[in-house]
Amino acid sequence: MNYAIPLWEQPSLPIAGRTERFPVRRIYCVGRNYAEHAREMGHDPDRELPFFFMKPADAIVQNDAAIPYPVRTKDVHHEIELVVALKSGGADIALEKALDHVFGYAVGIDLTRRDLQGEAKKAGRPWDMGKGFDNSAPCSAIVPASKIGHPSKGAIWLKVNGAIRQSADLSALIWSVPEMISYLSGLVALKGGDLLYSGTPAGVGPTVKGDTLEGHVDSVGELTIRIV
Ligand code: MN
Repeated sequence: MNYAIPLWEQPSLPIAGRTERFPVRRIYCVGRNYAEHAREMGHDPDRELPFFFMKPADAIVQNDAAIPYPVRTKDVHHEIELVVALKSGGADIALEKALDHVFGYAVGIDLTRRDLQGEAKKAGRPWDMGKGFDNSAPCSAIVPASKIGHPSKGAIWLKVNGAIRQSADLSALIWSVPEMISYLSGLVALKGGDLLYSGTPAGVGPTVKGDTLEGHVDSVGELTIRIV
């Protein structure tokens, strides 16, 4: 294939214990998937179907990276999330087949320009510039499901400069991983390489220049990034 401009690099993530990397195709994120977080954002968690937004694949940030404080914002929030990596996909995936498509899991942070997201919400406009900006998707190495299975409980937490800011258990997810995959595949055809950020628990808040963010999910691993 001849392209008119130089081809960019395929965004990818390391895989724990393997030399191959995981190529990232699309990044889907689910909103308000822990009841306490839905409430802190002013919503009733009991009445909503899952809803999704996206980040560009090249918004991925590798573990242990330092990223510049994002532009055009004064209110960047951290959202710690379990990330699901798909090895295959399809349309209208049955609930009981959903986990067959999972390659593995990772620890992610959904960085959010909360001020821009808030303005968009108020104006009834898309969230994209509040969510899908450069370096907005830090993600750890992917741990294959063949090693750890499919975690449905266990601690998920985030520390800022050593102090716990978010802490919950995966069992508090409103929509489970198979439910999210099955539902999302009814809206778009999923494929191998897709990542799904599964939502954040309560305790989201601002991060500033100089912060070190450390995320953890039991059996999945750790993610550390610095804001500079
Ligand atoms: Mn999120």
